[in-house]
Amino acid sequence: MERDSSEYRSESVAWESTLMDLWIQPCAACADLYGQPASKGPHDRLKLNNRGAEKDVRAEEHYTCVRCKAVFARILAGESHKQIWMLLNASQH
Ligand SMILES: [Zn+2]
Repeated sequence: MERDSSEYRSESVAWESTLMDLWIQPCAACADLYGQPASKGPHDRLKLNNRGAEKDVRAEEHYTCVRCKAVFARILAGESHKQIWMLLNASQH
């Protein structure tokens, strides 16, 4: 019952490269911030989205970089090792 999966593999590669085209190239400040603990503050090009949308439960904040259009999620709840700055729309080359 072995099946050759190469067909599926090439499909997924094509899908990934399509997605890449939509992704931004992070500027140096964003590249630095990516993966840092959420306790670290945003850099000065980041604009907070949806400020004040939630009063009590602030599980995460979303920021957009005015320079490179990177979108960050700043995770503020959950396990401590997951409370980091996540880059939502950039490739990880
Ligand atoms: Zn940036």
